[in-house]
Amino acid sequence: MTHSYKEQGFATRAVRAGQQRTHENEHAEPIFLTSSYVFDSAEQAAARFGGDEPGNIYSRFTNPTVRTFEQRLASLEGAESAVATSSGMSAILSTFMALLSAGDHIVSSRSIFGTTRVLFDKYLSKFGVETDYVSLTNLEAWQQAIKPNTKALFLETPSNPMNEIADLAALSALAKAHDCLLIVDNCFCTPALQQPLALGADIVVHSATKYIDGQGRCIGGAVVGDAQRVGEDVYGFLRTAGPTMSPFNAWTFLKGLETLELRMNAHSASALQLAQWLDQQPNVTHVFYAGLPNHPQHELAKQQQSAFGGIIAFEVKGGKEGAWKLVNATQWLSITANLGDTKTTITHPATTTHGRLTEEARAEAGITDGMLRISVGLESIEDIQADLQHGLDQ
Ligand SMILES: *Cc1c(COP(=O)(O)O)cnc(C)c1O
Repeated sequence: MTHSYKEQGFATRAVRAGQQRTHENEHAEPIFLTSSYVFDSAEQAAARFGGDEPGNIYSRFTNPTVRTFEQRLASLEGAESAVATSSGMSAILSTFMALLSAGDHIVSSRSIFGTTRVLFDKYLSKFGVETDYVSLTNLEAWQQAIKPNTKALFLETPSNPMNEIADLAALSALAKAHDCLLIVDNCFCTPALQQPLALGADIVVHSATKYIDGQGRCIGGAVVGDAQRVGEDVYGFLRTAGPTMSPFNAWTFLKGLETLELRMNAHSASALQLAQWLDQQPNVTHVFYAGLPNHPQHELAKQQQSAFGGIIAFEVKGGKEGAWKLVNATQWLSITANLGDTKTTITHPATTTHGRLTEEARAEAGITDGMLRISVGLESIEDIQADLQHGLDQ
């Protein structure tokens, strides 16, 4: 028997939901490293394959460790269903392959993960699905971009790296009025800080690689939503096309979910402190963090999120040269484009994550040459500040 934990709090569900003990009575969740399952008889094999009897057949279809991760994440997002995928990108691909057809149209925020944009422009377009891009925070632009064949609105909030915040309730009303789906990449906040489905979104996608793992070990993703679209349609694509999550990775992510709320609150507290400190530095011209009262969507972020997250962007004097000097003067911060790790990372978006954009597109997205992005880790905040101080003194 599994307890549903439906009435329990977030922290309890993060630790307990989805676990089903075997006859061994193990305390922790086991890893089922098996590709297939055996049947008691020819009759049972036929019944399983025929769909007359529920149960495991093959790990591309179902795996108990993966299922535990899916049920726990669904519980945390307040959803009927979740399906786990091999990466965040395959979560996004699977969602669109399952739910859209040739001739359909997507309206997307222009401030999305670079590879997602490549997926839309280079690959989905080959199959007759076109995408138009709008400013994340301009509701009127979203409305104007919707066409009769628009099937989905897609966004990330807060955006990367500028920390712009979308009004999820307003966009969900817009999506409903035009009979299209609101799909939210909830990578930056995770359900610990923001639950888009409760604000009217239809589907949430995740790169579990980031905060859900939280310790930089595994690649994975998930699609979360209702039992029909996610539990049947997206699942149907996954079991056929095969970008499923490995049981070992599912176990790692399960353990990540157990500490997710603690970690997200700690990342957020350190990031707020660091943003306030950066804002005081003479060589910093601007800090982009929704926790600061001067942020244009500070009030919206306060309503929509329980904390402001672990990502900060800021601009230094001296353009690219000034930014690179700062990066190179740090002694132990990790120079890497990854985020959502216990280890603090520093990136120069204009020459890395956003380097492939044209100068014009970068300017449109607000990404200047002097801008840096920090994913604030769980080290002592005094030490993070001291390492950045080396760079700011240059
Ligand atoms: C990293 C990332 C992805 C892609 O996830 P992978 O696990 O690397 O495939 C998608 N969206 C956002 C916001 C990301 O940061």
